[in-house]
Amino acid sequence: MNIDFKKLAHEYGTPLYVYDFDYMREQYRVLKSAFEGSKSLIVYAVKSNSNLSVIQNFAKEGSGADCVSIGEVKRALLAGVNPYKIIFSGVGKSDSEIEEALKLKILMINVESEAELKHVESVAKRLGVEARISIRVNPNVDPKTHPYISTGLHENKFGVDIDIAKRLYIYAKNSNALDPVGIHFHIGSQLTKLEPIAEAAEIIADLVRSLKAIGVDIKFFDVGGGIGVEYHGDEKLIDLEEYATVIKKAIKGMDLTIVCEPGRYLTANGGYLLTKVLYEKQNGDKYFTIVDAAMNDLLRPSLYNAYHKIEPLAKREGESFQRDIVGPICESGDFLAKDIKMPPLESGDLLVVKSAGAYGFTMASNYNTRPRACEVACEGGECRVIRRRENFEDLIEAEKLYLQGE
Ligand SMILES: *Cc1c(COP(=O)(O)O)cnc(C)c1O
Repeated sequence: MNIDFKKLAHEYGTPLYVYDFDYMREQYRVLKSAFEGSKSLIVYAVKSNSNLSVIQNFAKEGSGADCVSIGEVKRALLAGVNPYKIIFSGVGKSDSEIEEALKLKILMINVESEAELKHVESVAKRLGVEARISIRVNPNVDPKTHPYISTGLHENKFGVDIDIAKRLYIYAKNSNALDPVGIHFHIGSQLTKLEPIAEAAEIIADLVRSLKAIGVDIKFFDVGGGIGVEYHGDEKLIDLEEYATVIKKAIKGMDLTIVCEPGRYLTANGGYLLTKVLYEKQNGDKYFTIVDAAMNDLLRPSLYNAYHKIEPLAKREGESFQRDIVGPICESGDFLAKDIKMPPLESGDLLVVKSAGAYGFTMASNYNTRPRACEVACEGGECRVIRRRENFEDLIEAEKLYLQGE
């Protein structure tokens, strides 16, 4: 879609998040159709972009929601997601979150430890309900044989081992407060290779077979999210048809609904951060372009050293040269890009930061008392505000009444 960024910057100011809802919807449809022929449920990973209108855009397509806090669950409901399509995941849920989730009658609580399972059971007992649960299993796909899963090691804190999982499923089956309906794995993010996914799917499917054999009737086979996307533009990505095929193959012969939890695949490249050049600056032989968006607006470069393509809206004459694109925040780590080549820029020029639809605004903060940016959605050639720019009053509202008098 052709978005008139200049007009949007003029109308709504900068920094500005702009989302292409048509792109996001199309991503959803492509993935959904890859699973054709099988029962499938796509649950959008709300943490990647939790704006209500973004969630609503997917909900209208029939999407569910993968949530990691009760706040996200409530956002999903408010945005029109069917409660029976909401999953509540995460390693640390509080009893009150579990209680609310049960009262809201969501599809299932994704349990990540034995201790949590006991908590879910006791809360369910107290409420007199049966809690639908899934258990997150760590398939222990060897990160050595698949070194490209960069989060492989770190992932070990998530989920439970296969042997423990089996014991927990039997425990849940015998509890009248627990209904084990699903199984879940998620081996990492920004996955670009199929092999580890296929391997994990086979391992978990075997577990499901052995569970079904002893009467644990699993209905939902949740393969997690993590489908990789282009940030640089030259990545070799997973073919979604092949992705769906290896999953279908793993569960062949079993009556299961495939659940998939994409976040960035749906949103990353449907989002742009529009920012304005404030100043050009040279320290020794190092050049800086100081822009009005900062790490509080887009944290990924500072946090993960993540790469985001940045392009000037209008190219000026002259040789490109190397520079850092930095924000106004008082931290050396405040940058959007390091050592990138760009043509000459002047104050007032607009830059478009790409791939900003996932983990962009959701990670934004008010550091340095900077109001968070406005968010705009474009759809069918029309653009509209979906979150107004914050103002100073928003930032101090919860504090000002506590100021002490003279
Ligand atoms: C973060 C996360 C996702 C989404 O990850 P993406 O890389 O954005 O697709 C899905 N499921 C779980 C359990 C997650 O932690």
